[in-house]
Amino acid sequence: MLYPNDTQAQMGLLYIHFPEMQKYIFSSVRFIIPAIVFTLVLLIAFIFTIYTIFRQKRLTEIKNDFINNMTHEFKTPISTISLAAQMLGDGSVTKSESMLKHLSGIIVDETKRLRFQVEKVLRKELDANRVIQDIVTTFRLKVETAGGSIDAHVEAAKDMVFVDEMHFTNVVFNLMDNAIKYKHPDRPLQLRVSTENTDSRYIIRVADNGIGIKKEDLKKIFEKFYRVHTGNRHDVKGFGLGLAYVKNVVTALGGNIHAESEYGRGTTFIISLPLLK
Ligand code: ATP
Ligand code: MG
Repeated sequence: MLYPNDTQAQMGLLYIHFPEMQKYIFSSVRFIIPAIVFTLVLLIAFIFTIYTIFRQKRLTEIKNDFINNMTHEFKTPISTISLAAQMLGDGSVTKSESMLKHLSGIIVDETKRLRFQVEKVLRKELDANRVIQDIVTTFRLKVETAGGSIDAHVEAAKDMVFVDEMHFTNVVFNLMDNAIKYKHPDRPLQLRVSTENTDSRYIIRVADNGIGIKKEDLKKIFEKFYRVHTGNRHDVKGFGLGLAYVKNVVTALGGNIHAESEYGRGTTFIISLPLLK
């Protein structure tokens, strides 16, 4: 309506036709699109930075805790060694043969403990096949002296795992030790150790033809202090801690362990560890 106050007859109407309105609006705001994109990028970068900072902070805290714990663990052996050394150097202390032996024994023990402590920290890349092969070599003598045989198929193509060598060795040692301890009294021990890759994991199998474990016990053998009742056989000594330790270590290394057994026939322990990427 051009002049709304005019009389009806004279009233003029103006029509506006805007065929490309959408396009026009778009072209007039087009220039702010890069700005929006840029702002988004900045925002994402900002959020990422904040996230990284917090993560880094948490890592630093963990690291500090760890270092504090470690130094604490180191302190005892160091002070014991230094005490022993002081006594050796102290002229007023009489040095009998046995005294010297005692002191050097302390120093040797404590240095060993220190070395263990250091190795404990050192989780590293390890070619597990080689380590297992070494353990088998060590055990061969023991098994063969007991009239048994040991059979190794260390065949996993990929064998790099990220573990602590000492604990890893202990794990395999414990399983093989059990196989010897719980061998069947009526037949020679046949121990089979093998490794393979399944689902890009590293699998270790330790299989024996020993006394086996009943189903109801199988569930509990990884518990601390659990030992299967062997009736009136008391010849096999142990604390029931070996498998609990094994389970702890394997879990800490990001793996898992389970056992399969047939009572009277034998037992197989299967460990699965993540491979190093
Ligand atoms: P430790 O290892 O602390 O000296 P342990 O050998 O008795 O003592 P674990 O290694 O934890 O303790 O084993 C727990 C129980 O599981 C054993 O007492 C035994 O009864 C059973 N067991 C373990 N390995 C085998 C095996 N290879 N064959 C048959 N039984 C087994
Ligand atoms: Mg044991």
